[in-house]
Amino acid sequence: GIIFDKYTAKFKKSKELYEKSRTLFPNGVCHDIRNHPPFPVVTDRCEGIYMTDADGHQLIDLWMGHYANILGHGSDAQKRGMERALAAGVHHGTLNRYQIEYAELVQRAIPELESMRFCTSGTEATMYVTRVARAFTGRHVIIKAEGGWHGGNSVLSTGVVPPFAKSSGPEGQKTVAVPYNDIEKTAEILRAHSEETAAIIIEPMMGSGGGITAAPEYLKLLRDFCDLTGTLLIFDEVITGFRFRWGSIWPLLGVKPDLFTFGKAAAGGIHIGIYGGRRDVMDIITKQKLFVGGGTYSANPVAMCVGIETLKDLETADYDKLNKAGEDFRQKLTAMTKDLPYPAYVTGFGSFFCVHFLDARFETITPQVIMTHTDKDRENLFKAAMLLNNVFTMHAGGAFSFMHLDEMTNSKLTEAYRKSFEMI
Ligand code: PLP
Repeated sequence: GIIFDKYTAKFKKSKELYEKSRTLFPNGVCHDIRNHPPFPVVTDRCEGIYMTDADGHQLIDLWMGHYANILGHGSDAQKRGMERALAAGVHHGTLNRYQIEYAELVQRAIPELESMRFCTSGTEATMYVTRVARAFTGRHVIIKAEGGWHGGNSVLSTGVVPPFAKSSGPEGQKTVAVPYNDIEKTAEILRAHSEETAAIIIEPMMGSGGGITAAPEYLKLLRDFCDLTGTLLIFDEVITGFRFRWGSIWPLLGVKPDLFTFGKAAAGGIHIGIYGGRRDVMDIITKQKLFVGGGTYSANPVAMCVGIETLKDLETADYDKLNKAGEDFRQKLTAMTKDLPYPAYVTGFGSFFCVHFLDARFETITPQVIMTHTDKDRENLFKAAMLLNNVFTMHAGGAFSFMHLDEMTNSKLTEAYRKSFEMI
């Protein structure tokens, strides 16, 4: 229709580059979430809260590199960290002093990380942490939430996964999915697997699954089950870690896990994965001479130095202000969606938000509702409309950086939403 026609006319150079990329990459991309109809915008430069695309348009970025750039594109922390790493040599492949410095900072923010290892992505972190849990418990089943996304590894991308990730792989037979926040059904499934479950891995706020926060009583059910059965509770904090406060989200929700994974904001835009937690659990690596970890680039100085500088700046950053601004912004959007002739809902927590276009109206938005009732065509139209209004979104929303604070309170962004809601 007319939106896609206008889009194609506006983003000419992107289209040209996308045609080329389709000959080089399956679906033209390296991560399918980056593709959307009629074709994705190709970026040229990112700075502050802006992206400049291949045609030279300046777009407000709400995606912020898969939510990682919490201090903004080209933050001082990134610059200082890169400079330090360049001077140090970008890749040592050794035990280096920067990893010790970074680990001490991470541990100061999250004292529950008594022992940890670094890797280069959240995917690796969840893969390794579940391997640790299986070794420690001697059990094989991993329980995850329906719609939970823990990266591209075969164990955890099976079960029931978000719409963009098709499940596959024999290892998935060892993965059991429970309905997020559904206490009764989850308790039933847990009981059926109480003897064979190594760990429950859960996002305290489901990110890709729709911006839904775990109910404290739901987390308590998981904690109680784990305590009773010797199962390990893992919080996948690849999105939530350092997003809502300096460290883990767990003090905000009141339930403490045994193990954690971190990524994204924990190094402010540089490739990072962190896994760890209880020392007695992590010690299994030593005790069993377990091969967990590895990675040519694990603990490389670029990631370590940018991580160090990021955590230093985040320590004094005003998270309360960012969270509050995020809440206010979501409230404004929610008010807008009330008047629309189609069902649209805003979810999120603090500086993180999604907008959902559904095929029916619902009283409560759960991950199950999002998984089964998302109107993908409308969402795609909306994303294109937002780009026509010069805003880059993901799941029709995004995650604000500290550099967004001014933009969140002026009307440019809300106007872009208002216009886009009207266009579709
Ligand atoms: N866990 C969660 C909760 C995520 O959102 C993601 C990434 O989107 C991952 C794990 C995987 O992290 P990465 O993309 O760095 O491999």
